[in-house]
Amino acid sequence: MITFDHVSKTYPSGNHALDDLSLTIDKGEFVFVLGRSGAGKSTFLKMILREEVPTSGTVMVAGHDVAKLKKHEIPYFRRQMGVVFQDFRLIPTLTAYDNVAFAMRVTNVPEKKIKERVPYVLELVGLAGKGNSYPDELSGGEQQRVALARALVHTPQLIIADEPTGNIDPELSFEMMELLTAINSVGITVVVVTHEHELVHRFHQRVITIDHGHLYSDTPAGEFTRKEGIV
Ligand code: ADP
Repeated sequence: MITFDHVSKTYPSGNHALDDLSLTIDKGEFVFVLGRSGAGKSTFLKMILREEVPTSGTVMVAGHDVAKLKKHEIPYFRRQMGVVFQDFRLIPTLTAYDNVAFAMRVTNVPEKKIKERVPYVLELVGLAGKGNSYPDELSGGEQQRVALARALVHTPQLIIADEPTGNIDPELSFEMMELLTAINSVGITVVVVTHEHELVHRFHQRVITIDHGHLYSDTPAGEFTRKEGIV
């Protein structure tokens, strides 16, 4: 699903964000990408989403060399992925239903399809009955579920969660991980980027640790220990 082959990224300012990073994430995996602030996690995500291209090396996502995608191909490419951003990025003037529907309307999905799909994904994330609520009427955890529903609306092959627990309390972040685990169990690849060791320790998944843009460790599911988590 995702292959980084000797990927380095130097920003025009001269910052080296990634340095000779090589790794593979297979279809259907659940992977944590762990690293402290400045380690290169956001840059890693931006490469997957084709918001940035490598300075050297190759990034392959869902069979595409991201650097070779043509401009008009990028929106279609991104639609294969669902992203849950740390700050949710919900539209405050739209209900939960319309926030999710919006993602379909902008891609001209017929209204009939939207009427079927939106209640289905809202139910999937445990928000049946909350469709008419506005973001400010929802708890942080519920807002994040709306963001997850929106990420799922195009039936993506890959879900990327960027620091998904940043704005919610530990109990809710636990619930969010359980939802992501359920999503993964139906075959969707899940990549969770985080700096939180506690989260990684509670869920026994593969952990890729990035430090100073390098691959610090890559630990198979169930084998991550405190020792690996020193960064
Ligand atoms: P993380 O998400 O792990 O905090 P980042 O990928 O944001 O790490 O940053 C890695 C390094 O790249 C840092 O040194 C950061 O300052 C630098 N960096 C990130 N984005 C940019 C940018 N747009 N321009 C210049 N430097 C950047």
